[in-house]
Amino acid sequence: MAKLHVITYGCQMNEYDSERVAGLLREQRYELTDAVADADLILVNTCAIREKAEDKVFSKLGELARLKQQRPGVTIGVMGCMAQLHKDEIQRRAPQVDLVFGSPAIARVAELVARVRHDGRRVLDTSEGPLVKITAKPRGASRLKAYVTVMEGCEKHCTFCVVPTTRGRERSHTIEAIVAEVRGLVADGCREVTLLGQTVNAYGRDLTPPTDLAALFEAVDAVDGIARIRFTTSNPYNLTPRLIAAVRDVPKVCEWFHLPLQSGSDRILAAMNRGYTRARYLELIDDLRAAVPDISLSTDLIVGFPGETEDDFAATLATVERVQYDNVFVFRYSPRPGTPAATMPDQVPAEVKAERNARLLEATTRAANARSARRLGETVEVLVDGAAKKNAGELAGRTRCNRVVNFAAEPGTRIGDLVHVRVTEVLPHSLRAVPVATPEEAVCLSR
Ligand code: SAM
Repeated sequence: MAKLHVITYGCQMNEYDSERVAGLLREQRYELTDAVADADLILVNTCAIREKAEDKVFSKLGELARLKQQRPGVTIGVMGCMAQLHKDEIQRRAPQVDLVFGSPAIARVAELVARVRHDGRRVLDTSEGPLVKITAKPRGASRLKAYVTVMEGCEKHCTFCVVPTTRGRERSHTIEAIVAEVRGLVADGCREVTLLGQTVNAYGRDLTPPTDLAALFEAVDAVDGIARIRFTTSNPYNLTPRLIAAVRDVPKVCEWFHLPLQSGSDRILAAMNRGYTRARYLELIDDLRAAVPDISLSTDLIVGFPGETEDDFAATLATVERVQYDNVFVFRYSPRPGTPAATMPDQVPAEVKAERNARLLEATTRAANARSARRLGETVEVLVDGAAKKNAGELAGRTRCNRVVNFAAEPGTRIGDLVHVRVTEVLPHSLRAVPVATPEEAVCLSR
């Protein structure tokens, strides 16, 4: 068998795509290898969301150019968002690359690789194509927790974001195709799925007849063997009362919600074209907490969007103080080619972005630590997923609220079990706990 090495940058969707590509190539007798030096085919799955992600890819392609000098027979491919956005620049800056293909061409990867190998010429494919549900997996890819892409693309056109260009318009997979994939994952030992989409809560509106994420939750919930359902990323604009009710009512859907705010300033939200105000966002947070009182909330924030003043930034700080998130991802605004914000006036200097980034992280870490501290003494349900990192004699897993828990397990506890533990210590990145015989009232409730 020939050897394939895949290097993945970026989001969970890219991880999912890399695995599908490895699965399709397995059918063509390519076996995955961790060692780049052994590979006959190297694929770099790329991310274009921020400039830093792109810099990493070009630096990796530089390394691979040196490898190709030593081993001219190796085939190098670039796939994913940068392939779609920068195919010309990749050809210019990385002439050693033999194959460039975007996300819509993933289903054709075997044919594209065969063409490179056969013709000995560079192949480019960044064309659109029909949405195909690919379920091929590489050997040994059975997982306790798996991602399942339920839709592609985004039509929100936030002025900072390149995703509508790199991943195209919104297209949903059918509920039947997704359920079939989940059943296949369960047959391989999967217990938890994370349903993925760039705007996952817009799921289904493009299908005939239209459907929605709440209906998909019900269908996945009915799959025997699945213990937990997560989903990401939601957009506040599409967050409906029906979805909030489904998060409350569908038993396997976890009490964990990622809802990007981006900014707490109405002026900046409008310039971003986010489609909601600070007040509307807070109303949604209140609705979520009213429905699921101890829901774990996380968000994405951008600092230094063009024109962001100290007052705008203060509004973001005030909003995060009001919400008290369990987890926050802060990004410094990065101008993206072809997006409206890239050419807006009043771009914010790098040092101001860095300073706001630090202040925001300080405030959000304080809030997250305070939220964590409340876990002390609670009984929580844990999906056991392996040995504890720092102590192989202990087991580790995650709560429904997605916190890591380490604990000395009862004899007979196995990976994949759901167990109840009582939290005895709250650490910055994990919880310590002891098993409890009978589940008491659990906050991250197993219903
Ligand atoms: N589709 C989701 C939404 O809009 O709510 C988010 C998906 S995006 C892959 C993840 C995060 O990257 C965004 O929520 C945003 O905070 C950040 N991001 C996107 N474009 C950015 C840019 N040009 N500069 C800095 N951060 C950016």
